[in-house]
Order: sequence, then C-alpha cells, then structure tokens
Amino acid sequence: MLDSTLQATYDQVLRRNPGEPEFHQAVREVFESLEVIQGKYPVYNDHDILMRMCEPERQIIFRVPWVDDKGAVQINRGFRVEYNSALGPYKGGLRFHRSVNLGIVKFLGFEQIFKNSLTGLPIGGGKGGSDFDPHGRSDGEVMRFCQSFMTELHRHMGEYTDVPAGDIGVGAREIGYLFGQYKRLTNRYEAGVLTGKGLDWGGSLVRKEATGYGAAIFADEMLRARGSSFEGRRVAVSGSGNVALYAIEKTHQLGGVPITASDSTGYVVDEDGIDLELLKQIKEVERGRIHEYAERRGGSARFVKGGSVWDVPAAIAIPSATQNELDVDAARTLVSNGLEAVSEGANMPCTREAIEVFREAGVSFGPGKAANAGGVATSALEMQQNASRDTWSFEHTEERLTQIMKNIHSTCLETAEEVGRPGDYVVGANVAGFRKVADAMIA
Ligand code: GLU
Repeated sequence: MLDSTLQATYDQVLRRNPGEPEFHQAVREVFESLEVIQGKYPVYNDHDILMRMCEPERQIIFRVPWVDDKGAVQINRGFRVEYNSALGPYKGGLRFHRSVNLGIVKFLGFEQIFKNSLTGLPIGGGKGGSDFDPHGRSDGEVMRFCQSFMTELHRHMGEYTDVPAGDIGVGAREIGYLFGQYKRLTNRYEAGVLTGKGLDWGGSLVRKEATGYGAAIFADEMLRARGSSFEGRRVAVSGSGNVALYAIEKTHQLGGVPITASDSTGYVVDEDGIDLELLKQIKEVERGRIHEYAERRGGSARFVKGGSVWDVPAAIAIPSATQNELDVDAARTLVSNGLEAVSEGANMPCTREAIEVFREAGVSFGPGKAANAGGVATSALEMQQNASRDTWSFEHTEERLTQIMKNIHSTCLETAEEVGRPGDYVVGANVAGFRKVADAMIA
C-alpha cells in the first residue's frame, strides 16, 4: 500500500502511460521505497518532484529501414528515451531485442536515472534500443541495421548531450558499426559520444567485464556485511551474455563456485564449477547455444532443456539474463534450498513478489540499480579517459570500479539505516539515488 500522496501520483503515472507494465513496476518499486522519507522531505512534495521525474524529458521514436541479405527491405522501430539530465548528459545503453517497445525502454531509462546517480559520477539517465533481433542475422545485416539506426539517432547524441552504450543484443560489434556511422555522418572523432568501444579506438579496459564484475563484487560486499563469504559456496548465475560471463569470472576470483549458466533454450549445471574459457569460446566467439557447453565439457556438466535455473540449490544467486526472470515460485525454491544473497546483474530480473519472499526470509537482496551499476560506472570512466585523451591500465580501472561498487554498497546500507530500514538495500538504493537527483532538479 502506498500513502495517499504517492498513490495519487502513481495513479497519474498509470493513466498517462497505459499498457506499460514493466514501467509501472519500476515506478512502483521506487515509490514504495520513498514512503519512508515522505513528510521528512516535504520539499519534494511541494515541487511535485515525483511526477516530474516520471515524465521523460524527451522521447524519440523512429523508423529504421534496412536491406537484408536477400535484398528485401526490413522495417524496425528505434527508440531513445532521454529521461533525466539533472546530473549530467543522458547515459544508458541500447537494447536490440524483439521484446523492445516504448514501455520497456521507459522502465530501463527510469531505473537508469537512480543507478547513474548512485555511481556518484556526473551522468544523467537514458535508454534506447530497437525491436530488431540480431539472432541469426549476418554481420552485413547487423551492420546495415546499425548504420540506419544511427542515421536517425546521431542528431540527438553528443558527448555533452546523450551518450549511448550497449545492453542486451548490443556488444562491441554493434558499437563499432554505430560509432563508424556517427563518425561518418558528423565528420567528428568524438570518442566520448558512445561507450563500450573497442580498445584500439577509444574503449576502456574493464568496460566489457564491468557489469558482471560489479555484480559479483556487490554480492561479496553483502555477504561480508552479514559475516559471510563466497568461499567455497555454490553460486547460481543465469544468462550467458556479457554480464553473466564476467559475473562468473569474478565469482571464481572471489572464491565462490559458479555452477550454472543459461540461455533461452535451457540451462547447464556444472558441479565442478563453470569452465569459463569453454563458455566464453561457445558464447563470445562462436555465438553458439548453451547445450554445447554440457556436450563439450562432459562428466561434471549437464544440460536441462527449458526448466528454471533457480531449481539448482545455491547460496548466492546472480540473475543476469533479463527482466522478471525470477518469479515468486523460483524465489521460494531458492529460499528453501538455503539461499543467502541475491545480486541482480540484469535490470529488474526479480519480480516484486519474489523480492518480498527474499525480504521475509532475511536474504540479502541487491537491486539491479545498485548491484549492476558497475557497467555504467565504467562507461563514465571511459568518458573520462576520452575527455583527457588518456588510457588507464587494467589494474587502475578495476581498482576504480571496485571502489565505486564498495561505495554504492555502503551508501545503500547507510541510507537504509538512516531511514529506519536497516539492511534493506532496495530502500537504501532508491532513497539515496532519488535524493541526489531530486536535489539537483530543485536546485
Ligand atoms: N546497459 C547497461 C546498464 O543497464 C550499461 C549502460 C551504459 O554503460 O551506459 O546499465
């Protein structure tokens, strides 16, 4: 239940944005957290800051025509939601996936505002993407799609305006095609206009690893805060994209035993711990399917077609696939199998009901806007390197990332404590992220 002021604003958000359930879910979670500061910061009510924050500053929707390998014209829809620029230029990824629509982009952009605020770096919030599905498309098709997408998007971008990056379906290959087209259209080598670039042309070391590393570091911090650790513990990871791969890598380094990975066809369990080199070869190099891992690994690994990766008993879960992948039943199963901590590598992978189950069971729960902020934080470090025409070492950049994740963790805990909800990382993240943006907007 929300109090009457928050409920009235929430009703207005629902009326204004019909048919966008993921967006409603993201807004509601923030509103529920803000309940604890209602009355204490009346200035926020006076300025109707919540409604202002829920309304994107600008929403761009455009046609993306491109020619496939058969010579046929294909049409997709492109989006960029420039959500909030109180703290810096709009910053956030591009998602290419068939499920992308305006509501999805708005939910992601809304989350991004608070996430970026939590990093402590000067970046506003935005998100974009397309319903283009890169699966099964040739390099040439992906290139032509990216060039067409950028032909419209470039006029809205700029290193001081809006700085996109990758998300699901957008990795180094796509960023390369997008950056090339931006450079060609503008005749400017404006490196800081896109992040996640290749290392030879303005990219940052650790950017590729950063989201997954950060989610594992955040889990490590939560475990320490409850007097526990990764040491020898089973860790369930979902997904097998960029976030999952590097969450697995960092989990290994921190002494945990990552035992699962998944894709849309099913999941693998490897009782000896995931062989990362093999998984990277299949997923990053060959762009293959997850069942190949079990076939090539042999003995310790098995593939489960369909099913839920959350059936696998584990002490720590790092959901790193997509939104609402971990529901209330999965949460109950995990809890009954002795779960201690969840660190969201993906954006909003746990449903509201699942989070409630974790809360009641005393599981430490790190919401995505805190736990997966390492990716965008390292994007901001890439922008810093671009602005100073410098490149930092892996060690230095990783040290910065680690420190940022530790700061986010302590900010969440301290804020939760301050507002009377000790140990509640959701409330801590939302209140801390919100206050900074709200103060800047009012100023
Ligand atoms: N897509 C990532 C996220 O959800 C990274 C965004 C960025 O680096 O700008 O935070």
